[in-house]
Amino acid sequence: MELINPLIDEFFREGNLLSDLIDNYTYRPNQVELADVIYKAFLDQEFLIAEAGTGVGKTYAYLIPTVLWALNEGEKVVISTKTKALQQQLVEKDIPNILRLLGTPLKVVEAKGRENYLCWNKYMKILAGRRAMTPEEAKFVEQILTWAEQTKIGDKKELGLKAELIKHWWIVAADRKSCAKENCRYHDKCFRLKMIRSLDKAEIIIVNHALLLSDIVVDNSILPEYKYLIIDEAHYIDREAFS
Ligand code: SF4
Repeated sequence: MELINPLIDEFFREGNLLSDLIDNYTYRPNQVELADVIYKAFLDQEFLIAEAGTGVGKTYAYLIPTVLWALNEGEKVVISTKTKALQQQLVEKDIPNILRLLGTPLKVVEAKGRENYLCWNKYMKILAGRRAMTPEEAKFVEQILTWAEQTKIGDKKELGLKAELIKHWWIVAADRKSCAKENCRYHDKCFRLKMIRSLDKAEIIIVNHALLLSDIVVDNSILPEYKYLIIDEAHYIDREAFS
């Protein structure tokens, strides 16, 4: 099969790049074909709807052409996943693996809903004793003290607390209703705003379907302008839209 971008073959051919990454890697023609038609859709500026059966390896089939396109063309690509778990896997494992094989950096940013980020305003109110707390909530705050001082991203995913503690996260989580916006005294260090600012420089942005749809609802005020979008498990997006 003649491929649009020979580098795709470099990844997928048996004994080549992906073999170094995946134990017992086997060449799957359907996977290569999918990667190739995705790259072609980028090139021809076309919409593509693709269905891949179980075992095709669709994640690498869309990530590899996406990374190659972002690197070669310097264009921003947004990838939307159904779950936060897959979002995290792409950011922390799959894309770094591909970049390691290519030996080149790329700015990849994960964007999530505001409820995932610590709100300084709420947190400082608690530390100043201006919010009454139950003993369980006080225990939760005690557990996040060191993290809150050290975290660079303020994302609750870093915490790894047990369910009985993390259920109190909402007391420090950013939320639309209580956000003081431009009047917030912590505006410059707000984790959510920092995340939004970092999206401008990103070459690949990883979102989940919920955030992708929220962005559309709020007149694209979260994501910067983008021309290229990959929606993983797109058959779930209508459910997310109506949930
Ligand atoms: S800008 Fe809003 S979310 Fe950010 S720290 Fe201030 S109140 Fe919290």
